[in-house]
Amino acid sequence: MIIVMNNGANEEQIDGVVKKIKEFGLEANISRGTERTVIGAIGDERKLDQELIDALPGVEQSMHIVKPYKIVAREWHKQDSIVDIMGIKLGGNQVQIIAGPCSVETQPQMDAAAQYVHEAGCRLMRGGAFKPRTSPYAFQGHGEEGLTMFRKAAERYNLPMVTELMDARQLETFMKHDVDVIQIGTRSMQNFDLLKEVGRINKPVILKRGMSATISEWLMAAEYIAAGGNHNIIFCERGIRTFETYYRNVLDVTAIPVLKKETHLPVIVDPSHAGGKAWMVPALSRAAIAAGADGLLVEMHPTPCEAWCDADQALTPQELKDLMGTLGMIANAIGRTL
Ligand code: PEP
Ligand code: MN
Repeated sequence: MIIVMNNGANEEQIDGVVKKIKEFGLEANISRGTERTVIGAIGDERKLDQELIDALPGVEQSMHIVKPYKIVAREWHKQDSIVDIMGIKLGGNQVQIIAGPCSVETQPQMDAAAQYVHEAGCRLMRGGAFKPRTSPYAFQGHGEEGLTMFRKAAERYNLPMVTELMDARQLETFMKHDVDVIQIGTRSMQNFDLLKEVGRINKPVILKRGMSATISEWLMAAEYIAAGGNHNIIFCERGIRTFETYYRNVLDVTAIPVLKKETHLPVIVDPSHAGGKAWMVPALSRAAIAAGADGLLVEMHPTPCEAWCDADQALTPQELKDLMGTLGMIANAIGRTL
């Protein structure tokens, strides 16, 4: 960390900073310029509490030199990490499309959805059994019964199941049903206790971006999972809140190359919750793959107009099939496969 003293800082204040740095177990290197003094804190700067340093008399500002996240940072792990999901590789050359309904509704709905996901050429399936809804009166998901329906439908086509975990108390149930990929939703991105719990298991985790989270907060959330020992993390950009009201969220395409630079872990995009309308999904999907996303998480329903949740953004089975055709061409154009 570099600490810049203000130009009136006296020796006592400089000594105070040096003392504090040493208290944290680091060494201090003082550089006296003509206008101001700069102090370098040498050692593992993650041990330093920046707020405490900033609060010391005479300090103008302090700056981290190394990233506050470590395990997830590309700085420490240069090559791309691949997350293996039942032999399906996410983060490698092949782009993976995860498709399925917003929520698990009925067995026939899930059976039909699984067939369409498979026929479209997607290798993984999504569907929520525990649903985070804005209204407590809206359908909350079938819970454990939903996991049973999901597994029954998905196993016919060998599709790994991707489903949201909202509460650490449900983790045992998820393990009992051998859920293949745990999704942490936008509303839970900074539920640190939940992140710690999924950090203790070795299941792949899709970590959605909090709707108002910065890139740095998102990376730190992933670091919580990684710090527990689970490095099978997939980032999912799903749109952020801005001043715009025309669409549900703004898909932050910029986050894709930025994340690819900052982390070695796979990055996917959810175009459905970003746009919030089915007609926007193809364009956002093409943009995401072209920008370097390793995959997509897309909502598709056998009959969208009958969906119990997010009906307006679900693709029809035919739309999913058409989208897959186009995405294949885009993937090939950038040297990848679908
Ligand atoms: C979902 O994928 O069904 C969902 C609720 O997404 P998000 O957490 O991004 O809103
Ligand atoms: Mn949804």
